[in-house]
Amino acid sequence: MHSLNRIFRGLTLISIAAGLMYFALPGQHRALTPQLFGLTQVQPNLFIDDVSRSAQALDLIAQADRTNRAFFGPLEATPTFLFCYSVECADDFGIHTSGLTLRDRFILLSPQGINPMIVTHERAHAELHGFGSWVDYFDPIYPMWFDEGLASFISADSRLMIPQTVGEAIWTTDLHTWRDWGAVVTRENWPQVYGASLGLVTDIIDQSGCSGLYKLIQDVRNGADFDVALDELPGTALDRMDRKLHVKPCLFTRS
Ligand SMILES: [Zn+2]
Repeated sequence: MHSLNRIFRGLTLISIAAGLMYFALPGQHRALTPQLFGLTQVQPNLFIDDVSRSAQALDLIAQADRTNRAFFGPLEATPTFLFCYSVECADDFGIHTSGLTLRDRFILLSPQGINPMIVTHERAHAELHGFGSWVDYFDPIYPMWFDEGLASFISADSRLMIPQTVGEAIWTTDLHTWRDWGAVVTRENWPQVYGASLGLVTDIIDQSGCSGLYKLIQDVRNGADFDVALDELPGTALDRMDRKLHVKPCLFTRS
């Protein structure tokens, strides 16, 4: 009986400590209960720190949905958006970049991420992540280079530096998990790393067409291994190291 009491007391203390940490430590876990940390819910899927800007936030979400729908077709992910218009809010929620997407569930935006390009980029991540599961968090079915390259492509990111050739970009295919990605990307080199990944996605389009890109996404969604599905594409994407990279607009003609 005494040992049961001790266990019960121990569990109670652990629960209290975990609860205190949840409230005391800033971080992305706070997205689970945004109202407790100063955000207001203005729509079922939108929390915001400045309600006077709700209309702008809703407009950005609608724009991002439109662009992603044009690419993916009907959208399946239903992420909850957290818009932080203040730096203090971004710090509270652990948003140290312009934006971040937690699986297909949450999109967190800092002040510098509240614009059409970043919201569209993060929305693309949410949609692609919805094709996997939480189990894939540490070993994603779509490698990070493809995830980031595709999001940069769909959002037409004009800030990036695309290398000249496949050979100069191919190293990013080693970046499979978010840990791999985080270990390489810095405040200085991100335009090159994201640019290389974007360049490789556009090489897939260049060699296999938009239909090849859709086929790759779909095959992996249906259970194929990404690298195997990439190898089996019509065309010969990422095969010739000296091939020039250039962003071709994909007209989103789904077939
Ligand atoms: Zn991204």
